[in-house]
Amino acid sequence: MEAGGSVISGLPHPEALAVPRGILEKIVPRGDLEEAGALLGTVSGGEAVVSEAVPLAWGVGGFRVDPVKWMRTVLDGEERGLEYIGMYHTHVRGRARPSPLDVRYMMECPGEVWLIVTPEEARAWVWGGSGLTEVLLRVL
Ligand SMILES: [Zn+2]
Repeated sequence: MEAGGSVISGLPHPEALAVPRGILEKIVPRGDLEEAGALLGTVSGGEAVVSEAVPLAWGVGGFRVDPVKWMRTVLDGEERGLEYIGMYHTHVRGRARPSPLDVRYMMECPGEVWLIVTPEEARAWVWGGSGLTEVLLRVL
């Protein structure tokens, strides 16, 4: 999703993701419907602070994010002074770890923080110069 679309080693990325509890609670999956969306907010001092989670796609057993809808969301956020932090999506069962397919998509978006939320837990990940790395998640 970034220009170039290839893995850039050493790309800087946030070391922590801060998410308000109210936003996180809205993402927690209930039932079989998975959801994906964009995280917008501000990045400073190595921490990304989410101020909006914009839903973009839903599906049972998977989902497909429309790239045009995604781009509009990112540009709309920029117009309002918000940075694009990355994506969130839900796993209706299992752990909040990236699946092999998730990792494939993450490799196309180095430096983006991916938040994965299950009914039991939430964890944040980034694909960067040292591969898949977990990012500290702070609930505000
Ligand atoms: Zn996943």
